[in-house]
Amino acid sequence: MSDRSHFRGFSTRAIHHGYDPLAHHGALNPPVHLTSTFVFDSVATGAARFAGTEEGYIYGRVGNPTVTVLEKRLADLEGGEAGLATSSGMGAITAVLWTLLGAGDEVVADRTLYGCTFGLLEHHMPKFGVTTRFADLTEIETLRAAIGPKTRLVITETPSNPNMRVVDIAAVAEVCRAAGVMLVVDNTYCTPYLQRPLELGADIVVHSATKYLGGHGDLLAGAVIASKELVDRFRFVGVKELNGACISAFDAFLVLRGLKTLALRMDRHCATASRLAAELEAHPAVARVHYPGLDSHPQKALAARQMRAMGGMIALELKGGLEAGRVFMDAVELATRAVSLGDAETLVQHPASMTHSTYAPEERAKHGFTDGLVRLSVGLEDHDDIRDDLFRALDRAGAG
Ligand SMILES: *Cc1c(COP(=O)(O)O)cnc(C)c1O
Repeated sequence: MSDRSHFRGFSTRAIHHGYDPLAHHGALNPPVHLTSTFVFDSVATGAARFAGTEEGYIYGRVGNPTVTVLEKRLADLEGGEAGLATSSGMGAITAVLWTLLGAGDEVVADRTLYGCTFGLLEHHMPKFGVTTRFADLTEIETLRAAIGPKTRLVITETPSNPNMRVVDIAAVAEVCRAAGVMLVVDNTYCTPYLQRPLELGADIVVHSATKYLGGHGDLLAGAVIASKELVDRFRFVGVKELNGACISAFDAFLVLRGLKTLALRMDRHCATASRLAAELEAHPAVARVHYPGLDSHPQKALAARQMRAMGGMIALELKGGLEAGRVFMDAVELATRAVSLGDAETLVQHPASMTHSTYAPEERAKHGFTDGLVRLSVGLEDHDDIRDDLFRALDRAGAG
């Protein structure tokens, strides 16, 4: 099989799936096709491509050969039929929502979402007649009650950003199927290496590939994985005509490069984060650590069932609240004050003033996270260096 689609191991597929070097002059890596448009050898060919009766590229906003390799690879890793790569995670989310929803439709969303997804649903979609009910999707009865006759889709993240609540994808999917609504899961925090929502019954997976999939903090990208029928609609309606959020060939190449080490990186992120989570929990300045691998996490058993390992994200609440969080964040030296996540560098940020400032203070309380919460994206540096840095900063925060 020339495109190496018969290999089964995750890392093997992340490195090889969907690309045959011998079909590209032996180039080990997929060539970066820096072209906006594609040449037709005749009018008939052009017409056939537009009519969809002949395979082939037309224009960069709907497809590019470098991007196609990435789309096939991500679909394969998520266990989906087809994939669509986009210019950012928000490009993926808006391509899905704007394609599927129209005036009068309702969305049910988990109460804790990435800040811009929340902003889109709460503040901007109502302008187009689409309203959202936020519900705690960790409680299945609450979900069932929130779904009404106008509900078209349910959207969730798990573990949720920033406070690491875990949603039972299989249980939510069952309720959605019975109600005839689609389930969209944002799998950015886990990547398909740790969790595969489609296998648990979700209809659509979205990603910010800016994070772990790219993995090096040097690009913005997103992806959607679903049935071919849905992905065709997201491509030819969502990206082609609604948001224009196509990925560049060069960024697609960089995500492909990141994918080669995804499993290795995730193993290291997870191993370091689970050690740190336990150590941080024991520090006297820390009130609470949110990490699904800890015994103190209320959904530890569910997380262990649903995820291969517990991920690289940790949320902390300090005993001194918001002020202690500020002191802590200004005191770190190795950890880097920055939003985003999933990079080689350990990143620390404050959701209430940064990623989740789209939530009003009372919304944050209602949606389940405090102003004192600090979010850590555990990087690939040596565990001891990260621990020493965090502990030094915590000592400072505790003393204040
Ligand atoms: C970053 C992020 C997004 C948005 O992705 P961009 O690539 O920044 O547009 C969506 N969901 C989650 C969970 C994220 O962390």
